Amino acid sequence: MILTVTLNTAVDLTYHVPTLRRHTTHRVTETQDRPGGKGVNVARVLARLGHSTTVTGFAGGPTGAWLREALSGEPHLKDALVPIGGTTRRTVAVVDAAGGDTTQFNEPGPTVTAAEWEALKKAYASLLPGAEAVALCGSLPPGVPVGAYAHLIREARSAGVPVLLDTSGEPLRRGIAARPDLVKPNAAELADLTGTRDPRHAARAARRRGARAVVASLGAEGLLAETPVGAWRAAPPDLVRGNPTGAGDSVVAGLLAGLAEGADWPDRLVRAAALSAATVHASAAGEYDEAAYRDLAARITATALPGAA
Ligand code: ATP
Ligand code: MG
Ligand code: MG
Repeated sequence: MILTVTLNTAVDLTYHVPTLRRHTTHRVTETQDRPGGKGVNVARVLARLGHSTTVTGFAGGPTGAWLREALSGEPHLKDALVPIGGTTRRTVAVVDAAGGDTTQFNEPGPTVTAAEWEALKKAYASLLPGAEAVALCGSLPPGVPVGAYAHLIREARSAGVPVLLDTSGEPLRRGIAARPDLVKPNAAELADLTGTRDPRHAARAARRRGARAVVASLGAEGLLAETPVGAWRAAPPDLVRGNPTGAGDSVVAGLLAGLAEGADWPDRLVRAAALSAATVHASAAGEYDEAAYRDLAARITATALPGAA
């Protein structure tokens, strides 16, 4: 099974409005409620691809109960969330039909106690031996130490389980120093980490700091991979207009699916680029369009870059 960790799970609410304006009452044309948080999104995509997936992290209160109930209906997906006294956060995404863009509101999440963080570490340690790979995804809720991901990475490494990190800021900085197998920053996260805007220089700098491989996601420009065995670019053949929320999570799912199936790097990147573009294409946030995925996977190629490693 593939394990995903979401310390800051969420109930994601999406509102669709004809035109978004300030100081205005809006008519909501469509709403969607879904279990969320980055690792939950990754797990849902993996499960839909047919991979046996386990979700851990924190869940509490009425929103936490709702999230667990909603996850229980997903085939191939197992709930190993740790209960907390606080209430799982909500996020709100407002999709503006006229502008074709999304405005996002994220609550910080409930404060996690020291005892709850200890319980998570225990649950994680007992899940690791059964995992073929683990993904650590998203922000840290208040109360969780800033070095939390660094700790979880060291545990995965000593258990011999490949570990992928997708976060930002200080948790990313500290996580990289713990030598994860792979990090998946977007362009802004990579620039913030390394102080350089050139993605290739930045990805190489992240590798020097401890990441074994880096897959940078560059929005509509696709993916850049710097790995111990080579460097590649994989770009979508055409620009997809749609909702990019969760596209990065689909990149993580595609990379993990490829790893679990023993695919080589170019093939993993093609899957990740196709899945993420198919996620932008789908109307609901974090869902992917199956037909678009198959079509894109057949048309995308990964191009080797000179001067690798
Ligand atoms: P998230 O909001 O999920 O954290 P992110 O900011 O981490 O996303 P992005 O780099 O924005 O990740 O997008 C991830 C990937 O999705 C891109 O690398 C690309 O492959 C694909 N993608 C994003 N936008 C588009 C687009 N407009 N057309 C085609 N593919 C896209
Ligand atoms: Mg983005
Ligand atoms: Mg992201």
